[in-house]
Parts: sequence; C-alpha cells; structure tokens
Amino acid sequence: MSRFWSPIVHELSPYSPGEQPDSAHWIKLNTNENPYGPSPRVLEAIGAELQTLRLYPEPGADTLKRAVAAVCDVSPTQVFAGNGSDEVLAHAFVALLGHQVPVLFPDITYSFYPSYCALYRVPFRTVPLDDRYQIRVNDYVQPNGGIVLANPNAPTGQSLPVEQVEWLLRRNPDSVLVVDEAYVDFGGDTVIQLVDRHKNLLVVRTLSKSYSLAGLRVGFAIGDPELIGALERVKNSFNSYPLDRLAIVGAVAALRDREHFETTRSAVIGGREFLREGLLELGFEVLPSAANFVFTRHPGRDAHDLLAALRQRRILVRHFAQPRIQQFLRISVGTDADHIALLEALRRLTA
Ligand code: PMP
Repeated sequence: MSRFWSPIVHELSPYSPGEQPDSAHWIKLNTNENPYGPSPRVLEAIGAELQTLRLYPEPGADTLKRAVAAVCDVSPTQVFAGNGSDEVLAHAFVALLGHQVPVLFPDITYSFYPSYCALYRVPFRTVPLDDRYQIRVNDYVQPNGGIVLANPNAPTGQSLPVEQVEWLLRRNPDSVLVVDEAYVDFGGDTVIQLVDRHKNLLVVRTLSKSYSLAGLRVGFAIGDPELIGALERVKNSFNSYPLDRLAIVGAVAALRDREHFETTRSAVIGGREFLREGLLELGFEVLPSAANFVFTRHPGRDAHDLLAALRQRRILVRHFAQPRIQQFLRISVGTDADHIALLEALRRLTA
C-alpha cells in the first residue's frame, strides 16, 4: 500500500502462478509444462536469428501469422499473435468483453480471468459448473457482455463437444464467445472451423503446452477480422513489439515441425492415461481429462496435506484453496519416471 499508487492498484487481484523452483532437483508437475521439450528446429532457428537482434522485430509478427494460418487452415487476416496467450486473453478482455453487462465464465476455471476483469474494470459473473464439474451451456443463455470458456477447462481438464459450443454460439449471437483452447491438442475438440460461420467467436491458443515453448511466450487468437482488428488496436496502444525476434522464428519453426508435435503430443496423452490408471489403483477419484494434467482427489486424505508431503519429497503438484475444489490436486503429465516416483510416493502416503 502506498499513497503513490493509482487508485486502481488497490483493487487488483493479481494471479499467482505455480512455483518455479530455482534448482532442477524437483519433480515438477505443478505448471502444466511439457516434459519432452520443443522441436530441435526451434533451437536452430533461434540460433540463426541471434545475428539480427540489433533490429526491432516485425511489429505485426506477420511471418508467425502466416505459419499459424497454414497450420489452422484459416486466413492470416483471422490471426492475432501475442506474448503468451495470457497477453492475448488480456487484450480480449479490453477489446471485446468490456461492456456494461457482466461477462460470464465458470466458477471453477482459469483464475487469471477475474484478474483481467479487475485490471480492466470489466464486470463479471461466475456460472457454477454442475455437480460433476462440467460446463452446462444452457446456463450461459442469459444477458451477458461476453462469455469466456476454457475448453478443455482448467483446472478440471474436462472438455466440451463442438456441438455444444456451436449451440451456445447460435443462442448467443450478440456478444463475443472466447474459447480458450490452451489444452485442446491433448484430446479436446477445437472450434476453429466455426470462425467462418460465427463472427462472434474468438479462439485463443498457446504454444506453451503442446509445442513445449512455455519459456518463449507465444500465443495467438483466431477469429473474424473484425475481432482481430479490435485486438490489434489494443495491442498497438500497449506495445508495438510484444513478440521478439527469437519468439517469432522459434514459434514458426515449432509450428512447421508437425512430426515432433505429433510424437510428443501422443507421448503426453499416453503418459496421462498411465498416470490416471495409477491414481485410480491407489483409490483416487480422477476427473476425465482431455488436457496435459489430471484433477484428482483421495476420499481419505486431505489434499493440502498430500501437497505438503509430496513437497517434502521434492515433488511439486498444484492445489487451489478455493470453494468446491479444495480437496483436489492438479497434477501435470510428466515423464514415465516422474509418474513412477509420484505414484510410489502417493502409495506410501495413502497406505
Ligand atoms: N489459458 C489457460 C486455461 C491456461 O491454463 C494457461 C496457462 N497458465 C494459459 C491460458 C496461459 O498460457 P500462456 O500465457 O503460457 O500461453
């Protein structure tokens, strides 16, 4: 608190990211990073680009937009690029969701959404997930200044079928629906193919998870050029060069290496199923996951106690001290060795 702060600073509710320990001696299953690392072509591309750091990057990241357009089968005019999908989402809150009527999102979802609302003074209302922690699209058919759905949802991992998203788009033609597809490549249904038919749909994606580039900070959005135009106006009022030269060339190389993408994504999906089965055997309940993490609880062990006991064994997982989910742990998919160590620790802790 300081008398020098602008009044709004007192009203903010900053997001708390998961812990990034400063040594490598941890089994790190707390921030949904990809255990397999990016395509080797990313490192080559970044190495070659080091010669050009004297120069500013392309302000519109057009090379990256063309690469995204090719992979997603859309036009580059339907693509917006940003410094991580967090930045893309932030711009969407200012550019498309800041109306007088509250924006809607689930009570249990990515906890950055309310932080953006506080920063940009966007009114919001949360809509409860059902008893099985699923989104019921009917509940969003009510006056709103926009709707934001993570699909698959975080931290539950559950996915909504395309038909239900399209049903909601038809019933909600007068405000923007943002679908945050951060985890879609691990088994969700994308709705990118709906952007031509629905002018009010914005799909947000990241290279942090399925392309294993969390450290490079690259995200993008796909939508009608009118929505993209609004995001560009906000971006150009904020930072001309959010994506640096290394990020642009690295992301392009990652998007072009389809083989690496497919192999590592299958390995993550396989790892998730191994982890899920191991947890079920130990008596955990595991929600169905289409993401690179599972959301799980034990009927007889307190989640916070488990988190602390795992931490003592240098294993990091994530816990959210929030109503309805305080007995759950979110565990990111790691390597086979990570899963074996985690399951062994949990076997002892739940015996
Ligand atoms: N959306 C969701 C649902 C997420 O879980 C995350 C990761 N924390 C993001 C967006 C942001 O990812 P990034 O900024 O790394 O693209």
